[in-house]
Amino acid sequence: TKTSPVILSAENITVSFGGFMAVRGMNLALRKHELHFLIGPNGAGKTTMLDVICGKTKASSGKVLLGGEVDLTRKRDYEIASLGIGRKFQAPSVFPNLTVQENLELAADRNRSIFHTLRLRRSDTVTPKMLDILEQIGLPGREGERAGSLSHGEKQWLEIGMLLLQKPSVLLLDEPVAGMTDDETVKTGELLKEIAKTCSVVVVEHDMEFVRSFAAKVTVMHEGQLLKEGSMVEIQHDPRVAEVYLGK
Ligand code: ADP
Repeated sequence: TKTSPVILSAENITVSFGGFMAVRGMNLALRKHELHFLIGPNGAGKTTMLDVICGKTKASSGKVLLGGEVDLTRKRDYEIASLGIGRKFQAPSVFPNLTVQENLELAADRNRSIFHTLRLRRSDTVTPKMLDILEQIGLPGREGERAGSLSHGEKQWLEIGMLLLQKPSVLLLDEPVAGMTDDETVKTGELLKEIAKTCSVVVVEHDMEFVRSFAAKVTVMHEGQLLKEGSMVEIQHDPRVAEVYLGK
């Protein structure tokens, strides 16, 4: 993917919250089918960067370009989502009283209301596409279960499945393995590698051991700025990176 084209670029992004500069002139380039980790100490501005890309937070200055030409900076969050940019927040967000299948159906058809889904309960068959997704997210045969009864990790996978059904070209994930068991973390790693075959993925991550288990691109942020970019090996050998992690 080192030579694949840049699909999304955030250029010179600055975000000010009432005068406090959470992000200052940050650049981030995401290549096609790249798995890209965004790391850095607490408060570095990582989540704010994802928020800017998906339109949840407006940048004070700078630009986010999709495919080198579509300027996302002035678009609303739902427009950005409809352009194929999926965002997952840290806590799982599924409808606990709906089944796994109903959650996926809601995600697959954004025009379908929740009432329509409830009316269709148990009458719909599982589509081949949905069977694929269930398999991919490690929940085969579990479509009839109530989402609320899934484990924390399984809920996170279901939400990722809901995003995948919208056929994103870019996925933005905020600490997907936080709170997961070791076994769930390993499975999530496999899922991310699989997803990155067809999609570009940005993952904000605190778990360095997890990041180390990939041969992925890593961007380090510190105090709202780009500190270092490279492979995990390059990152680890940079004394400035060690300093921001250990120095305080
Ligand atoms: P990270 O994800 O790297 O931990 P964040 O992007 O969440 O960092 O936050 C960066 C900085 O911006 C922090 O100092 C945080 O307190 C501040 N911040 C984030 N969101 C807001 C907000 N809505 N209003 C004011 N300050 C915020």
